[in-house]
Parts: sequence; structure tokens; C-alpha cells
Amino acid sequence: MALDVIIVGGGPVGLMSAALLDAAGVGVEVYERNAGPSTASKATTVHPRTLEVLTMLESGDGRRVGDALVEQGRKVPHAHFAALPGGLDYRGLDTPFPFVLMTPQWQTEQTLADCLRARAVPVHYGAEVTAVVQSADSVRVTVDGGTRQAAYVIGADGAHSTVRQAAGIAFPGSPPSMVAFVADVLLTEPLEQARYSWNADAGLAAVVPLPGQVHRVFGVEAADTGLTADQVRRRQAEPLTLDELRTALDRICGSDFGVHEPLWLSRASNSSRYAQRYRDGRVLVGDAAHVHLPAGGQGLNVGLQDAVNLSWKLAAEIHGWAPDRLVDGPAAYEAERRRVAEGLLADTLAQDALMHTFSPSGQALREMFRGFIDQGGEVAGKLSGWLSGLGVDYPQPEGTHALAGAKAPDRVLAGDGLLRALRPDRFLLLDFSPDGAYSDLGSTRVEVRTARRHTGAWATVRAALVRPDGHVAHAVDSAGPAATAELAEAITAWTEPDRPATGAHTR
Ligand SMILES: Cc1cc2nc3c(=O)[nH]c(=O)nc-3n(C[C@H](O)[C@H](O)[C@H](O)COP(=O)(O)OP(=O)(O)OC[C@H]3O[C@@H](n4cnc5c(N)ncnc54)[C@H](O)[C@@H]3O)c2cc1C
Repeated sequence: MALDVIIVGGGPVGLMSAALLDAAGVGVEVYERNAGPSTASKATTVHPRTLEVLTMLESGDGRRVGDALVEQGRKVPHAHFAALPGGLDYRGLDTPFPFVLMTPQWQTEQTLADCLRARAVPVHYGAEVTAVVQSADSVRVTVDGGTRQAAYVIGADGAHSTVRQAAGIAFPGSPPSMVAFVADVLLTEPLEQARYSWNADAGLAAVVPLPGQVHRVFGVEAADTGLTADQVRRRQAEPLTLDELRTALDRICGSDFGVHEPLWLSRASNSSRYAQRYRDGRVLVGDAAHVHLPAGGQGLNVGLQDAVNLSWKLAAEIHGWAPDRLVDGPAAYEAERRRVAEGLLADTLAQDALMHTFSPSGQALREMFRGFIDQGGEVAGKLSGWLSGLGVDYPQPEGTHALAGAKAPDRVLAGDGLLRALRPDRFLLLDFSPDGAYSDLGSTRVEVRTARRHTGAWATVRAALVRPDGHVAHAVDSAGPAATAELAEAITAWTEPDRPATGAHTR
């Protein structure tokens, strides 16, 4: 066995996981059922935190993946929440990317695939995995009638994940009760800005400009809500036609906007489920861990952020420097990311209620939320933090610094910023002291960098240990021998193994 990790599924999450593992020196291959790269535009919304994590990744051609993607998309200052007019204002967010990037999913996938090509990571197309069996020291997958073996398998194979099912991981949640229409089309009169219509008698529709002359149209007719799961299945099996789309838009908005030349016509439901476990021995699941209504453009974003959380920890485990806390303890992939999936489902179900309750009470609820968002107060701030991904923190162990678990801001490092300094194979120790007091704490696992004072909760920080994914592991507000000893202890706790290496080999 020469391979560390097999990734099943060459969608965005599989490709991102492969690139990050390769960057961490892990031997990895991707197996994708489709004959070639996808051309579907499904997820068109890329949020700020996703652009941040894509910026951590070198594309292999001298650029960062985030930069390559931003060059191709359309920047929008507001993110929609429940298709309410106005939207959440991202302009004041503390990030190099204070906007939503509109770009079709195939383009995100292509950018990641280019990165893998430049890195010479194998992506096998036309390769369907039909079985996954693990033993104490490896996993075997059946693909194209043959078998492949690796130390670990990641299931990035979507909602109906073969890997998740083979590992016997339950997928509980709520059944679907509505069917939405989704299409990418041209309009005879293109819009400059997104338009949202909500009509208690007819339904909801949104028309959103994408790059080029293409527009994403999505919505739901009132008659397509309140269905049984069987009715949803039957409705989803009927292909959406351009005529049906025109009629629905006419009914809801009073105009069909001259939709023509459909590039993509599809349906989506509000089925909401997440994996009960994210790991079973040597098998891990990626975005295959959650399905939900595509509201607020979150699935791909959370999936890519899952990949970032998982990759450096699995690499550490394979290379033999992962302490138990990263493998199955409080900072393990499942411990940190399953609660994000719980939040994701709660958020999309709440948006579902706001968008699809076609009654006077539904209308009142929308008006109330619209007011909260327009005021730009605490509710709007919390929603922006969540949707943008910038406000997603990891649990803070009792007695640790208030910043533990929070995302470190890019601007704490002068020059290129923090994001470009992060690497999946080592921590950063940010030294805010004027005299380089912590330079002796550097090692192969910890790079010490001089940082610059920041505002807010960061104003008093003298040193911060930052994980490969940009979250704070530990921080101190004082200098001197006690603070140095405290940091040294934290470094040991995060980077000294409690068990031997488990990969197929190390490079
Ligand atoms: C209409 C719609 C709109 C959406 N809009 C947004 C949005 O704006 N923003 C957002 O963040 N998210 C959005 N999403 C969700 C987003 O598309 C998904 O979250 C994203 O595709 C998940 O990526 P993935 O790589 O995990 O899975 P997928 O993209 O589903 O990729 C899984 C891959 O695995 C392959 N595969 C499956 N089984 C096997 C097997 N046995 N062997 C080998 N390969 C296999 C499949 O062919 C596929 O290529 C939307 C989804 C839909 C349907």
C-alpha cells in the first residue's frame, strides 16, 4: 500500500481536500464517477471565508486559488438572506474579501482542478467507487471492478454518498416538503441587481445576475409547498421546462423577464439531513455530511470549510504528529464541524420558513426580519458572521484566552497578510512583542512570525499560536518566562503525538 488517502468524488469538496492534503505532503488520489469535469452551475455564491481559505492554497502556477477565482467572478456587496430585499451588507467585514463572489460551481471546480493538475495530483474520471471496506490498517475501495487500497478514505461523494453508507453512518433529519425551481437563463432585459418577489398567493422568485449575461432564477410556487415526501419525489422527477419557468415567473412577479436560452434547468427541495458521525475508523465524510435547501448559498461554502478543517488534522495524523485532541478529542474534525452542520441546517430551515410561508403570518415574519437586516444591528451582524463564515468559531476550552477558537484576522501580519502565510503542515506563532521574545519557540511544526498590533480583542495580545486553518489555538496577553512556558506547553499539547504515524508512507 503506497497511498495515504483516496478521495471518492471529484466535486469541489473532493478537489479542495486533495489539494490541501497534497500541500501537506500526503499521497492522495481522487476517483470521480463522471466522465469529465462537471458543467453544472449549481452553487453560484462564494462567501468571504471561503475566499479566505482558497487564498491559503497555492494553485501551483504561482497564484493563490482564491485570486484565480476572484478574477473570474462578479463581486456583490450584499448577501441575500431568505431572499429578502436589501440583504446583508458585507462591506465593513474584517477580511480582504468583503463581498460575495458570484461564479458558477463548474468554474470553482475548474479552478481547483487546474490547481491539482499543476500539482500533479491524479484525478481519475469515469471511476465509480462501488464498495468501501476497511480493516485495522487500511481501506480498500472497489472501482471499475478492481480494488485500490489506501490508509484512509474521504467520502466527498455528495448527498447519496456511497462512502457514508458503506461506513454505516446514519443520516437523520427532516423529509422534504417543498420543491423549488432553479435555472440559469438569459433575459431579454438583463438586470443590474438582484430582484426578489414574494407573493402570498403565488410564491417566491429571485432573479440574480451572474457573470456574463447569465441570470440565476430560483423560487417556489405556493402550490409546490406543503407536500408529502412522495409528492416531492414525483415532482422532482419531472424535468423543469422553460415554459413552466415562464408561467411561474409570470404568476409570481407579473413578468417572465424574457427568459430564454436556458443553460441549466433544475429543481431543489428542503430535505435537511446531516451525518450522525463524520468518521468511522479510517473513513471520513466531507460535504456528504449534510444536505439542505440551497438558501443563502451555503452548501459548497461549508463543504470547502469542512475540507480545510479536516485536511491538516488528517495530514498530522498520517505524518505522526497529531495529538489525540485532533484525532478524536475536542478539536477533532467531527467535534468542530458537526456543530457547524447543525447550525447550517437550522439556518436553512429558518430561511425556508421565511421564504415559503405563503400566508399573512409569513408576510409579517418577513417584514420583521427585513427590518432587522435593514437596521444593520446585532441580528444583521450575527447573520453576516454566520453566512460569510467569518463568525464561525470553534469551542473554547474552559480557562483559555477569549480568542481561542476564533479566526485570526488577515491583517495581523504586515505585507502579504496572514492567509498567505498559513500552510497545512505547521502552526504559526504570532509574536506581537517588540523584541522578538518568542523566537526560540520555533520548530519544524511552528513558524514564528512578527505580528502587528490589531484592534478589539487583539489589542492586548502579546503572542498567539495559530493553527494551520487560521484559527487561534492559544494566546497570551503578557510577556516573560511564565507566558513563554505557557506557550511552550500549548505547542506541545497541539503538536506532540499521543500515538505513532498511521499513513501509508511519509514523503
Ligand atoms: C440548485 C442548487 C443550488 C446551489 N447553490 C449553492 C450556492 O449558491 N452556494 C453554495 O455554497 N452551495 C450551493 N449548493 C450546494 C452545492 O452545490 C453543494 O454543497 C456542493 O456541490 C457540494 O460539493 P461536494 O463536492 O461535496 O459534492 P458534489 O458537488 O455533489 O460532488 C460529488 C461528486 O462525487 C461524485 N460521486 C458520487 N458518487 C460517487 C461514487 N460512488 N464514486 C465516484 N464518484 C462519485 C459525483 O459525480 C460528484 O461529482 C447548491 C446546490 C443546488 C442543487
